[in-house]
Amino acid sequence: MEKIDRRSFLKHIGAAGAGAALVATGCKSQTSGVKAGKPDSEGTMEYRTSGRGDKISLLGYGGMRFPTIDNVRGAELDQEQINHLVDYALEHGVNYFDTAPVYSGGKAEGALGRALARHPRDSYFVATKMSNFRGSHTFEEGLEMYQHSRSELQVDYIDYYLLHSLDGSRESFNTRFIENGLLDYLLAEREAGRIRNLGFSFHGSAEGFDYIMSLHEQYHWDFALVQLNYIDWNHSDECNASYLYSEMEKRGIKTVVMEPLLGGRLANVAGMVSSQMLERRPGSSVASWAFRFAGSHPNIMCVLSGMTYMEHLQDNLGTFTGFEPCTEEENEFLDGVAKAILQYPLINCTMCNYCLPCEFGVDIPSIFNHYNKCINEGLVPESSGDSDYRKLRRAFLKGYDKSVPSLRQASHCIGCMECIKKCPQKINIPTQLHRIDEYVEILKQQKEF
Ligand code: SF4
Ligand code: SF4
Repeated sequence: MEKIDRRSFLKHIGAAGAGAALVATGCKSQTSGVKAGKPDSEGTMEYRTSGRGDKISLLGYGGMRFPTIDNVRGAELDQEQINHLVDYALEHGVNYFDTAPVYSGGKAEGALGRALARHPRDSYFVATKMSNFRGSHTFEEGLEMYQHSRSELQVDYIDYYLLHSLDGSRESFNTRFIENGLLDYLLAEREAGRIRNLGFSFHGSAEGFDYIMSLHEQYHWDFALVQLNYIDWNHSDECNASYLYSEMEKRGIKTVVMEPLLGGRLANVAGMVSSQMLERRPGSSVASWAFRFAGSHPNIMCVLSGMTYMEHLQDNLGTFTGFEPCTEEENEFLDGVAKAILQYPLINCTMCNYCLPCEFGVDIPSIFNHYNKCINEGLVPESSGDSDYRKLRRAFLKGYDKSVPSLRQASHCIGCMECIKKCPQKINIPTQLHRIDEYVEILKQQKEF
């Protein structure tokens, strides 16, 4: 495992501390500082037309972060709340619902299916995925996953079906979909109308995306789900979203957006930047800027938001009802915001949970979330000589113990590297965990630095 010494880590932390107030994260704070948008504000929900003529709400419901009982992480999903959220979304014009067999520990499809089954089948479009990135990749296993999705969702046909998380590797694509005959089967299902639209979700390089695009002539992708937001548009570590978008647009493949808030990082931009955003659009949340940016491009069919709480849903309805695309000048402003955000060394974790379970029990996303939150809130001491060192130290350690049970903390990572290949953001997870653990130890032992 790559070793990062204490000095470089602290230097890293120090750089963040200097501007700690600039960016804050945390899904729950999507609407902080402003009143949630009103869904019954002027105008109606913005709709876009799919390649096959479906009228799709520009705001789509992402089913990755459904609420749990008492909001306890890892607890059972709260079906009553989910029903309420789904009803409210439908009532206010949202008609696209996205899920996957692997979301919420395999329980999300069933929960969404129960909520949607209480409504007429023609009042919504449902999207789910072939998440066969683990396991043996046999045809039988894939078929079972597909049939299970239909049964969980209580539908005879799936409106939008995706090959989940392609990375552009030919080898992986061939193993998962070609050699086992699974893609031929799914194409036949599309032909038979049990899959109405066939596409894929993507995390990878431009070269990998070019390969998937080169298959369009053969398979006729109807749509694709990609990560798109005002940071990834031109400042992605891997592949700029502007490139993905333009490649799809020129082929007439509709784009669905994931991570418009970059795992919550763009939900609450504090400090000077936040003030500027609020000054430019008083009463609009900081998150609404990110959603407007994503929805402004004409080939975007739908922008997914994993809405856990009613306040998220209402705020987003406010953005997509009477939708106002970003002007060119606003896009330039957001590019400046992106550059400012990138000065701060947050870990690019979107809390997708794909790296879990870790065999050694490490709760990777919660650890990264705590670290990012502390960076953003200025709770990371830059040196033991800081005037408020004792207070910050206490806040960091107390918050860590509260957010991550001791048996699941970074110290339990043995560096087996198993999680790295599962992370769509290509984070060097063990290295980051090791750095955080070293820092925690320094704080715990009250060493000077
Ligand atoms: S590298 Fe660490 S966090 Fe990742 S799977 Fe191994 S023990 Fe778990
Ligand atoms: S570390 Fe990677 S895989 Fe794990 S939750 Fe974060 S983004 Fe997802």
